[in-house]
Amino acid sequence: MRKIHQVYIDGHFVTPHGTEIAPLYNPASEQVVGEVRLADEVDARAAVAAAKRALAGYSRTTKRERIALLERLSSAFADRLDDLKTAMTEEYGAVRGIVEGLLPLAPKMFDEAAALLASYEFRQTRGSTTVSMDPLGVAVAITPWNLSAVFVAQKVAGALAAGCTVVVKPSELSALQTQIMTEAFDAADLPPGVVNVVTGRGATVGDTLTSHPDVAKVDFTGSTAVGRQIMRNAADTFKRLTLELGGKSPTVLLDDADIPAAVGAALTSGFLNNGQTCFAGTRILAPESRLDEVVEAIESAMPAFAAGDPTDPATGVGPVVSQAQFDRVQGYIRLGKEEGAHLLTGGEGRPEGLDKGWFVKPTVFTGVRNDMRIAREEIFGPVLVVISYRDDDEAVAIANDTPFGLQAHVFSSDAQRARRVAERLEAGTVLINRIFGDPEAPFGGMKQSGIGRHHHTYGLESYLEPRAITG
Ligand code: NAD
Repeated sequence: MRKIHQVYIDGHFVTPHGTEIAPLYNPASEQVVGEVRLADEVDARAAVAAAKRALAGYSRTTKRERIALLERLSSAFADRLDDLKTAMTEEYGAVRGIVEGLLPLAPKMFDEAAALLASYEFRQTRGSTTVSMDPLGVAVAITPWNLSAVFVAQKVAGALAAGCTVVVKPSELSALQTQIMTEAFDAADLPPGVVNVVTGRGATVGDTLTSHPDVAKVDFTGSTAVGRQIMRNAADTFKRLTLELGGKSPTVLLDDADIPAAVGAALTSGFLNNGQTCFAGTRILAPESRLDEVVEAIESAMPAFAAGDPTDPATGVGPVVSQAQFDRVQGYIRLGKEEGAHLLTGGEGRPEGLDKGWFVKPTVFTGVRNDMRIAREEIFGPVLVVISYRDDDEAVAIANDTPFGLQAHVFSSDAQRARRVAERLEAGTVLINRIFGDPEAPFGGMKQSGIGRHHHTYGLESYLEPRAITG
């Protein structure tokens, strides 16, 4: 059992002022695998003070110094990938596909930021005006438990490239991964206070950080409900915000799509990370004229998505992260039946043969109307809905009839037609005949899926403030 009893402030591992000890579970066994001593408000303020002290020196570093630092961070993270992989499976039941496919993006976040920095012009003069892009100041990065390393790396890379210092508040549920990442920060030989890490509750540490007057920017990835609270907290001092929030992404299967291939991709997206991915395609929009084929294709593809032991490389879907999430997802499966949707596969209770662990039966509802709650709310578990439509206009209308706008997918054998539909979809990322975007494209949500973008120059500039000097 791992005991994580320290936070990282001002370049040192220190015992937090906070005294609450929280258990860490393996969701596949429900066994306690570790514990974390949580930071409190005092620790949060100490971390901001350290970041503020470090800011004067760090914000004046040269591009070359920052690039060198980002390169050190990339290799420090790369050195710990195997440990992070083990922790991801142990701590939240990540299956091999996620671990192998997505975790390697974490060190790449630093590489991408370094490459961007190399060609970025922080000062541009036109006529008598010079515009300089200056670091915002102390940034706070708040991350969810899922794919924690990728989000921590993404935010720290952006902040440091811009010349900001940062306080990271990771999720309480991912403390094993956080400990490994913090050791990587420490190994990268950063100036003290440039990166600080305080794991604690949202209601204490999170609230303190997002309302602290010395914090200039909050970069948050998590639920829409918490994003809303952070925006309120930030309002008093007009903090700059990047918010990457929830989703209910549509996967539009046009009537000329290769149905078995498109359904395979749609299910892979929907069940990604055991159904716990912000951009998962959780609403499958099927043409009425080919609905029977879509249903058949789902039925024949489902064995590949059976729930099972996440340490088995053949497993497609692992457990959900916590007892609370298990209960919540069960509630949505019950709700789907009450709302009158047809349960095609899955349903309530644990999958056969799995009597321990927070395993949910991978579930697909058909006969779903887009006004049902199972079609409108983010479930964050392996529960998908199939909604039928008559023509492309209706498909677009249904796809856009959602409070979210993170990602959308279109499948078609006609590239021109797919693009015409894609251009009408209200989402920050629209993908044609694929379910993973370009990792260097700007990423973020429209509508209640968030504000701002990561990656690309948009990501870097979200940590910068333009100053125009004329004369
Ligand atoms: P969550 O919103 O419950 O928690 C996210 C983080 O916010 C945690 O570190 C939590 O401790 C903190 N927090 C909670 N209350 C807070 C407060 N009042 N002030 C400040 N911080 C607070 O989300 P989660 O369960 O960890 O993650 C799942 C959610 O994250 C889903 O909604 C998912 O869609 C979303 N998500 C979005 C993206 C994206 O890129 N858009 C990526 C991954 C996850």
